[in-house]
Amino acid sequence: MKQNIKNLLFSELEEYFVQKYRQKFRAKQVFKWLSLGVSSFTEMTDISKKMAEELSEDFYISTLKVLKKEVSKDKTVKFLYELGDGNTIESVLMEYKHGRSICISTQVGCNMGCTFCASTVGGKVRDLEAGEILDQVILTARYENVKISNIVLMGIGEPLDNYENVIRFLKNVNDEHGINIGYRHISLSTCGLVDGIDRLAEEEMPLTLSISLHAPNDTIRNRTMPVSKKYSYGELLGAVKRYLQKNGRRVSFEYTLIKDVNDKPEHARELCRNLKGMLCHVNLIPVNPARGTLAPSDVKHIHHFQELLIAGGLNATIRRTLGTDINAACGQLRRATQQEKKGGEPQ
Ligand code: SAH
Repeated sequence: MKQNIKNLLFSELEEYFVQKYRQKFRAKQVFKWLSLGVSSFTEMTDISKKMAEELSEDFYISTLKVLKKEVSKDKTVKFLYELGDGNTIESVLMEYKHGRSICISTQVGCNMGCTFCASTVGGKVRDLEAGEILDQVILTARYENVKISNIVLMGIGEPLDNYENVIRFLKNVNDEHGINIGYRHISLSTCGLVDGIDRLAEEEMPLTLSISLHAPNDTIRNRTMPVSKKYSYGELLGAVKRYLQKNGRRVSFEYTLIKDVNDKPEHARELCRNLKGMLCHVNLIPVNPARGTLAPSDVKHIHHFQELLIAGGLNATIRRTLGTDINAACGQLRRATQQEKKGGEPQ
């Protein structure tokens, strides 16, 4: 069975070329071409036709087909991509003052079951391979002819539930022989898989860890995030503290404000008590009513919540919401398209 060459680490590619051709330097050439997003070995003009043919006997080069592309007024671009096996994923390209950032998926669907999130409806279909995660970065850059400087793993899927492939992807996207995006420019967001956070702390990758917290205590978290039944609030914060000790980089907490669920002044005060003294930042996000049932808090409430956090000594900002006019919240476009196919109403 041929394998996707983009799943190989640079060191593994070197090993392949040493064993087969005694030509270690070929790995550099091929890895570079792959990072430029070529779709065939014959496009690699500095290797011979014969070698290109032989490579295509051992490997294939994965690509992504653009099924849908939506551009919002604020220039956020959302892609619905089709993978080699017909499954679909989403990636979102965002423009900021400091450069372009891409939000990428790590799984087809998701098993985490958060009640507000569209990605988890229908569960997880499969994990993405390392090369398929990488494709979202290199092929989006190629299709749009732009340079991408930041990556957030905040698309469809739970990155720490696809641990090995995500780490492989991170090593390759960071590799100096490819597109070489620094770990400091990458954020990994998790709903709070404690064992995964502990493993990640050992990798020595200076990423920004982002925790989808969304609640001030177990009772509220249990209502919206089933993962909280497996790992309690206390266990989660314990893992974050260990991560901080090991890694030293400021952790980010995502807090989606849902009307009448987690947006009351007492919730803000409780959050302050829980996070006090931690090197962290709280990102407040009005919930996107992707699944219809939960309403966002009103603007006045959100600002008051932020003021209370700041007064309690926390660093807190309200997330700029980009692309709301184009279904840009997690999993929304994939879900809407699945519904269209079935002839139903998007949920
Ligand atoms: N599984 C990972 C990463 C994907 S979700 C995680 O849970 O962190 C990326 C972020 O979007 C998470 O913080 C998630 O809770 C949030 N999110 C999902 N659906 C949302 C919605 N409808 N409105 C606002 N934020 C949402």
